[in-house]
Amino acid sequence: AKESGKGTYKFFTPDMNIQNAKRLVMEAELRRAVDNQELMLHYQPKVDAESRQIVGMEALVRWVHPTRGVIPPGEFIPLAEETGLIVPLGELVLTRACAQVKQWWDMGLPQVQVAVNLSPRQFQEPNLIEKVSEILRKTGFPATGLELEITESIAMHDVDNTIETVKKLKDLGVRISIDDFGTGYSSLSYLKKFPLHALKIDQSFVRDLGGDDDGASIISSIISMAKAMALGVVAEGVETAQQMEFLRGQECQQVQGFFLSKPLPPSDFLALLERQQET
Ligand code: C2E
Ligand code: CA
Ligand code: CA
Ligand code: CA
Repeated sequence: AKESGKGTYKFFTPDMNIQNAKRLVMEAELRRAVDNQELMLHYQPKVDAESRQIVGMEALVRWVHPTRGVIPPGEFIPLAEETGLIVPLGELVLTRACAQVKQWWDMGLPQVQVAVNLSPRQFQEPNLIEKVSEILRKTGFPATGLELEITESIAMHDVDNTIETVKKLKDLGVRISIDDFGTGYSSLSYLKKFPLHALKIDQSFVRDLGGDDDGASIISSIISMAKAMALGVVAEGVETAQQMEFLRGQECQQVQGFFLSKPLPPSDFLALLERQQET
C-alpha cells in the first residue's frame, strides 16, 4: 500500500492495475503453456577446453508462444517461481531432457551428460527426491547421465536441509553443480560440506576479462579453489577467442558459451553429436 499523503492509503494506481492485469494474463497463459506443450528445450554444449569435444550439455527452456513467438526463460521463470508453476514446469523440463538424451544415447551417440536447472522452489519441494527418481525410472535414463544445476543462493538457504537433499541426490547417482558461482556469498569451508560435482563460473566474470575489472583474478581464484576441492569447473558465457585462450591458460576444464555454440534446438544438437561421433 502506498501512502497518498493525506493520511489515507491508496492501494491501486492505474499503473499497478495494468501491471497486475498483465501479470494475471501471463500467469494464465503460462499455465496453459505447461499443459499445452508450448515449452521446448534447447541444448547448449559444454565443451572440453583442450580437445573442444562436447562433454555435456545444458537444457534451457523456451516458451513458444502462439502469438508472441519465442519467449526466453528470463521473462517467465521468475513468474513461474512466484506462482508455484515452476513445479509442474520443472517436472516437464526434467522429463523432456531425460527422455531426449536417453534417445540420443540409445542411438549410440557419445554419452554426454545433460544438466538441468533447478530453481529454489523446486529444490525445496518436499518430494524432490521421489520426483527425480520417478522421472529417471519412467524415462529409463540413468541417474549418472543427469546433472542438476543449483545456485549458491539455494545452497545458502537452510544449510542442513540443503546438504541432506544434495546427499540424497548424490546417492541416486545424480550430480549437483553450483550455477552462477561467485555471485553469492558461499565460503570455501561451507561448500566443502556438499558432495558437489562442479562449479560454474558466472558469466559476469568472463565478460569482465580484458577490461580493467577483477574478472581475471576472480576466475583464477575460483579455478584454483575448485582444484583444491577436487571439483570440476565450467566457465560460462564464453564469447570470444581471447576469453577462450585465457581460460585454457588457467586450465579451466570446461567452457560453455556462444563462442563454442548457442543453445540449439534438438535437431541441431543431434547434428553436432553426430559430427563428433564421426571424428
Ligand atoms: P543460466 O542457468 O545461467 O543459463 C545460462 C544462460 O546464458 C542461458 O540463457 C544461455 O542461453 C545464456 N548464454 C550461454 N552462453 C552465452 C554467451 O556466450 N553469452 C551470453 N550473453 N549468454 C550466454 P537463457 O537460456 O536465456 O536462460 C536464462 C536463465 O533462465 C538461466 O540462466 C536459468 O537461470 C533460467 N532457466 C533456463 N531454463 C530453465 C529451466 O528449465 N528451469 C529453471 N528453473 N530455470 C531455467
Ligand atoms: Ca544453469
Ligand atoms: Ca549460469
Ligand atoms: Ca543465471
